[in-house]
Amino acid sequence: MTTKKTHKITLIPGDGIGPEVSGAVVKIVEAAGTATGVKFEWHMHNAGADAFEKTGEYIPKALYESIEENRVALKGPVTTPVGGGFTSINVTLRQKFELFANFRPVKSLPGLKSKYPDIDLIIVRENMEDLYAGLEHTVVPGVVQALKIITEKGSTRIAQFAFDYARKHARKKVHAIHKANIMKLSDGLFLRCCRSVAEKFPEVEYKEHIVDNACMQLVMNPYQYDILLTENLYGDIISDLCSAFVGGLGLVPGANLGTECAIFEAVHGSAPDIAGKNMANPTALLQSAVLMLHHINEGATAERVQTALEQVYREGKVLTKDVGGTSGTREFAEAVVAAME
Ligand code: NAD
Repeated sequence: MTTKKTHKITLIPGDGIGPEVSGAVVKIVEAAGTATGVKFEWHMHNAGADAFEKTGEYIPKALYESIEENRVALKGPVTTPVGGGFTSINVTLRQKFELFANFRPVKSLPGLKSKYPDIDLIIVRENMEDLYAGLEHTVVPGVVQALKIITEKGSTRIAQFAFDYARKHARKKVHAIHKANIMKLSDGLFLRCCRSVAEKFPEVEYKEHIVDNACMQLVMNPYQYDILLTENLYGDIISDLCSAFVGGLGLVPGANLGTECAIFEAVHGSAPDIAGKNMANPTALLQSAVLMLHHINEGATAERVQTALEQVYREGKVLTKDVGGTSGTREFAEAVVAAME
């Protein structure tokens, strides 16, 4: 097959299980590209504590420049210190490149037994505002304040994204998730923006659930939902909850999307409990790479990866421990590559 195009992609391996899962994913995507005639040039730059040790910067200038140039990045998880230390690398990158939409499809894979078969949900999470921006200060010793910023611009933009997606992909329903009974101004503004966007999409059913009720409703009957439209913090929490429907964090992908750039990363974190043990499931980052391949208009390569991945799950012989298997990260990646041949 003749080579069509070389895509330049910034690769941030991350830390913890990041290097293992990103190594596996690059191997699989490369194999798919070889079969479909698509080439990739991976521009590798790290961020976080590892990068700081080497360069003195948590996000080296070269990484920013690489994303600016390539406009597409595949990112492994980066550890964020708890209760102190440096600001989240993930939040910083989302802010810097104005990646306002966090798109997280939660879909069952074939062959995996679950209490909730045939799940097909999408979480559309606002990605830059809310308490998650981490704007905090000490008012006086012993009293701190965290600022929950919600704007009309940010709320309208994410609602528009959710409804545009619903229309384009014939999804039937959007639920706005909120706590406007308590946070009447901030969540109230978010809801008003969602309602006004919803009016322009009469073919898409629009509903609202209070976030605590939504958590219960999700566990009782996730099938009542289609697209969950959320502020930043609720979306973060609900994503992990929903990942449990399809087999856990090892499976669920994500895309951080802006108007100029996009960073594709799994929902999960750096999983220090299993790091370096060849135990991590690379499926979540692999499915993030599938989203990336669609984003760069390489649908055939994306399909090739997804089909092989689903074949490995359907056969159920080479799976990682988190989904009931006995194989390692590397063996799983080899099985996906073999399924493409
Ligand atoms: P986590 O997602 O890293 O792990 C939670 C649980 O899920 C652990 O038991 C882990 O072993 C399991 N798990 C996660 N990914 C897995 C995979 N691919 N295969 C198999 N099992 C997997 O959450 P945490 O422990 O709360 O966070 C660890 C660190 O990751 C923290 O520093 C946090 O800030 C960071 N984090 C980073 C990102 C990101 O980079 N986007 C996202 C979430 C958390």
